[in-house]
Formats: sequence, structure tokens, C-alpha cells
Amino acid sequence: MPIMNNHNNLLYGGIEGGGTKFVCAVGTGPNNVRAEARFPTTTPEETMSQAVEFFKQQEASLGKIAAIGFACFGPLDPNPDSKTYGHILPTPKPGWTNADVVGKLKTIFNIPIAFDTDVNGAALGEWRWGKAQGLQTFIYLTVGTGIGGGAYVEGKLLHGLIHPEMGHIAVKHDFENDPFEGVCPFHGDCFEGLASGVAIEKRWGVRGGALSKDHIAWELEADYIAQALASYSFMLSPQRIIVGGGVGSLTHLLPKVQQRTKELINGYIQSPVVLENIESYIVSPGLGNRSGMLGAIALAEQALQRL
Ligand code: ZN
Repeated sequence: MPIMNNHNNLLYGGIEGGGTKFVCAVGTGPNNVRAEARFPTTTPEETMSQAVEFFKQQEASLGKIAAIGFACFGPLDPNPDSKTYGHILPTPKPGWTNADVVGKLKTIFNIPIAFDTDVNGAALGEWRWGKAQGLQTFIYLTVGTGIGGGAYVEGKLLHGLIHPEMGHIAVKHDFENDPFEGVCPFHGDCFEGLASGVAIEKRWGVRGGALSKDHIAWELEADYIAQALASYSFMLSPQRIIVGGGVGSLTHLLPKVQQRTKELINGYIQSPVVLENIESYIVSPGLGNRSGMLGAIALAEQALQRL
């Protein structure tokens, strides 16, 4: 019998660890999710115990899980050679600073655990099954409660020193047009500080979902997102940018973002996809709101392939 080359029958576990909820799943891909559970993000101890319980129960009914992928909110340490690998780095989220979120999984299951940012996970999910299939360099950006971006560069996920923090870049802030001071506890009016779901709610006094499609809020939002996308385009030369998240997925916002990004690039990137086909350069996720969860499964798959 051939050994080790065929991973088709293996089951993978995936955790999409978000700041407000965790989604756990067992399966092999979008057409074969065998079990799924979601629960609110509380303390690291309670939340990780719930994840462990979920996988134990699924193993009892579905069989052994070969590897687990964990795509988690950050900042976090994804470097396996680091002393703080698998830990959450200092975060405003109460109780999570320095939490070792991988340790318990490793001890209990003793299988490969892949650990990366939620947005790198989502990027990998889109590369594996969504709108980034076949691409070498692209970005996945989520605009929701917070803002974060994952980058896949020349065929692999980008980590660099720690991992990119695309939500915290500076954007031009015209105080006359937008007197709101921003909500980022570290930078005030960085991109996330001005354009996250939290910023929208604080600026306008209602959640983004309650603002009409023709509200001035969306021109402002599109401008901030477009500024960021233009910067990413200049810096990393992505072949495509996928924009997801609760705010990013609003269908009336995407065309504004596409148009504004094209205006800001102003012809400087001489590629037909930007000049003539911006709709296929800036796109919504192919996997909808499942990029993160499926990406976690793709991380697990990749962890096993590396062995
Ligand atoms: Zn910031």
C-alpha cells in the first residue's frame, strides 16, 4: 500500500477564533464540513476548553482528527521557534494578553497544530477554495468590528517579524470633513481607528447596519478603505484584494471602494486589471463569511503536508 501521500481521507479540525465568537469545525473543505459549533469568546480558559470539548466529542463520533488549524484574532505569536509561540500578544481584549492558546490543544491532542492570524487563515481559505485560487500574491482584508489583513506573497503566507497589521496603517484624515477623533487605543485615527465597525458606530451613534445606503457615512468609509487598498497595492503589488468582514461585505459599499481605489491609484499601476477591470481586482470573498473557518481547515491540511 502507498503510504503517507494520500491525505484525502483525513479529517481536519479548524478553529476560527474571533474577538466576539469562536467557530470550530471538523471536515475537509467547503463541501464536506462534518460538524460545526460556535460559541462566544469569553476568557481564554473557558473558550479554549469549549474548543477542546468540541473536538473530543467529534473524534468520538467521526474518528481521529489528523491536524488542527487555528486562525485566531491577534496580535499573536505565530513563530514556532519563539518562546511565546502560540500566545496572544498584548491586546486591549481583557484577559487575553499573553494567553497560551495553543498549549492546551497541543497537550491534549498531540497532533500538528497550525496557528496563524484569523486573516492569514481566511487568505489561505480563499487561496485553497475561493477567489484567490491559482494566485501567487494577494491580500485578504476584513473590515468588521476591527480591521485586519492577511497577505499571501509569492506562494506563501506572509509573517515577517511577527505578522502584518494592515488595520493600523495611517490614512489621510481631513478633520474638517471628518472631525471624529478615531477609536484605536494605540493610534487614535489610524485606518482601524477611523473605519472599523466600532468607529462607524461611535461616529454616527448607530451601527453601520442602521445607516441608509445613501448616508454620507459610506462615502467616507469607502474613501478610508480605498486609501488603504491603494497603499497595499503600491507596497505589495497584489494580484487581487479580497475584502470581507461585516462592513467590508456590504454590497453597496464595494463599488464605491473599487471606484475610489482606482481614482487614488490614478493610473500609476499599469495593469489592465486595475485600469480596466477594477471589479475583478477588488472582490468580495468567494467563501462568503466562511473564509476564516475553512481557512483554519486549510491551515490544518497545510500543517500535515509540511511533515
Ligand atoms: Zn491603530
